Amino acid sequence: MAKKSEDRKNEEKKLSEKLTFQFRHIGKENPEQFKKADKFCEGYKAFLDSAKTERDCVKEALRLAKEAGYTEFDRGAEYYPGQRAYYNNRGKALILVNFGAKPLSEGVRFNIAHLDSPRLDLKPFPLYEQDELALFKTHYYGGIKKYQWGTTPLAMHGTVVLRDGSIKEVCIGEKEGEPQFVISDLLIHLAAKQQERPLKEGLKGEELNILVGSIPYLEDDCKEQIKLMALKLLNDMYDMTEEDFLRAEIEFVPAVKAVDIGLDRSMVGGYGQDDRVCVYTALMAAVDTEKPEYTTVTVFTDKEETGSDGNTGMASRMLDHFMEDLCEKSGTRLRDVYKNSICLSSDVNAAYDPTFADVFEKNNSSFLNHGPVLTKYTGSRGKSSSNDASAETMARFIGFMEENGVIWQAGELGKVDEGGGGTIAMFMGNRDVDTVDLGVPVLSMHAPFEITAKLDVYHTYKAYKAFYK
Ligand code: MN
Ligand code: MN
Repeated sequence: MAKKSEDRKNEEKKLSEKLTFQFRHIGKENPEQFKKADKFCEGYKAFLDSAKTERDCVKEALRLAKEAGYTEFDRGAEYYPGQRAYYNNRGKALILVNFGAKPLSEGVRFNIAHLDSPRLDLKPFPLYEQDELALFKTHYYGGIKKYQWGTTPLAMHGTVVLRDGSIKEVCIGEKEGEPQFVISDLLIHLAAKQQERPLKEGLKGEELNILVGSIPYLEDDCKEQIKLMALKLLNDMYDMTEEDFLRAEIEFVPAVKAVDIGLDRSMVGGYGQDDRVCVYTALMAAVDTEKPEYTTVTVFTDKEETGSDGNTGMASRMLDHFMEDLCEKSGTRLRDVYKNSICLSSDVNAAYDPTFADVFEKNNSSFLNHGPVLTKYTGSRGKSSSNDASAETMARFIGFMEENGVIWQAGELGKVDEGGGGTIAMFMGNRDVDTVDLGVPVLSMHAPFEITAKLDVYHTYKAYKAFYK
């Protein structure tokens, strides 16, 4: 009797192995890979620190690309397999091309990540003095929980065009010893009424006012001397006057540096990981791809967090115009290229958070350390505004990853009807390109300080390399 039940057990085990499926944990299966992932993330953390705005991110990505042999795309030039070129769109979006062996008409491999992140922009006429303080008025960019931005140290970044046309790059609060900025919040002792507000109004949009200064230029009672002091200091640094704010884009971002998180240092904490984690991994994959079979087109787009509109976003014609330039030389029709291409919409997904377990459906959530998340569809309600990758497209990407030792997972954002969110995938789907989302799971997404796992970052790089190969 005992023998028989032992056989039965073995048979069940075999059948279970054959028929059931489980996503894998990189740290459990390949603990030796942590060293590589840790080293990879040293570069990643440095990238996060020097790429805190869309413009800074283009600059840093371009610096690394140029070091790796990318030269400015020249419409008149002949390109051969193995060559590399870049196209810089207004300093806010960047396209990298690795020319492949196959003709363009057989399609390209698109990999698209966004380099803008939620932040606080200055209003066009931002500086004011009130009750002996100088302050900036802001307008938030992208989806934020406003209360998270009070009492968070901030740095000032931006570009100002002076009346004479000269351009000043503003950056205050990133270097050791520089002053930083902050939005004040009400002390708990007087917050009885504020504490009754719904969380989304914990701090209201018009309360996101940034402290700029508190001492006057002259000690007399002349009008707005504290505002004048702030203007004097900005003038000393950047030659700017108050009217120059009207020709400026100034962004406030968390002044934090990217750091290791946890006793085991297994995670990265930092600002703007949505979606610069995909920008960095895609950039490194492109740089490390020598002679691809298909031409690879890596796009770092702007404006995703506000819906992709505008001439640096994916709803615009910027990619089509660039692709038309690529096609013209070889007499290829753009629509043939699109139809035969495949695209990774590389964006982050929500990592399962045990503290807020009730918004997730566990079987279809992504977990830290299980690798990049393949996301078939995004959107909200009944898959509204979603790309919804086909079974065939899913099969191709799963194939790329499994053939190349990538540990990956699949997931949705959260429970059905719990909320929702989109990516740029639909804009590529709408161009007649087979597209699916793949990216890193993130904890505290869109907070001033977001968390990723190093093993996921590393395997996302591996996935992109497998795709480019
Ligand atoms: Mn994103
Ligand atoms: Mn986002």
